[in-house]
Amino acid sequence: MAIRILVGVKRAIDYAVKVQVKTDKTGVVTEGVKHSMNPFDEIAVEEAIRLKEKKVAQEIIAVSCGPTQCQETLRTALALGADRAIHVEINGKDYETLQPLAISKLIAAVAKKESVDLVLLGKQAIDDDCNQTGQMVAGLLSWPQALFASKVDIKDKKAEVMREIDGGSETIRVKLPAVITTDLRLNQPRFANLPSIQKAKKKPMAKMSPSDLGVDIKPHQEYLSYEEPPKRQGGGRVSSVDELISKLKEKGLV
Ligand code: AMP
Repeated sequence: MAIRILVGVKRAIDYAVKVQVKTDKTGVVTEGVKHSMNPFDEIAVEEAIRLKEKKVAQEIIAVSCGPTQCQETLRTALALGADRAIHVEINGKDYETLQPLAISKLIAAVAKKESVDLVLLGKQAIDDDCNQTGQMVAGLLSWPQALFASKVDIKDKKAEVMREIDGGSETIRVKLPAVITTDLRLNQPRFANLPSIQKAKKKPMAKMSPSDLGVDIKPHQEYLSYEEPPKRQGGGRVSSVDELISKLKEKGLV
């Protein structure tokens, strides 16, 4: 029996944007800034599509939690090959203070509601660098987790997952249902073509609220302040190794 996959797709500030801290230091500037699907989630969508192409998966559901614009991210997932989408709508202040535990509860609730066999997420969102959601979804569902996957094989309701670790790799086996998070080298995501972008407009997208899922999204942490990294000091040129060493000595670095 082919499996059903839930893929989390976060709308994040595009990786190529130079992020700026707001003048009052309460957050980063998001208005007028290009957003895209979190790159690790593109890898998760690609992996789900490959599993469907291999007939291991029968259905791919994409979920995104956030403001109305998340629907663009979901349309991208649909154009790439997801079958349907779920938008958990959270706007304004509620979205600004939305934290991984709340997102994990929402994703776990959708996973239960849709009786999926696999939750595929990115290993981390590149905007907040939390690296928490996959782990917490697995905890909340009491499902096994296989994190930072660089190869995934699914057979007989079991997943064999290769993970890159210091100086090599390890392969683990987990029973489905499970949570898998994607690492950079898992695959090379495809681009959506025009016909599939058109077709995606007709694919179903359900909208729900956190209360429809019975989830309280109240934050548990307070963000106090954001700072830009220190400005880089200009470098200098040296004409020889000896000069380099004496400069390093002068600065007390050797
Ligand atoms: P994080 O724990 O925030 O680093 O996020 C890890 C992964 O969780 C992401 O790569 C996504 O797959 C998923 N995720 C995080 N936030 C959202 C969101 N707002 N909507 C859907 N999926 C999300």
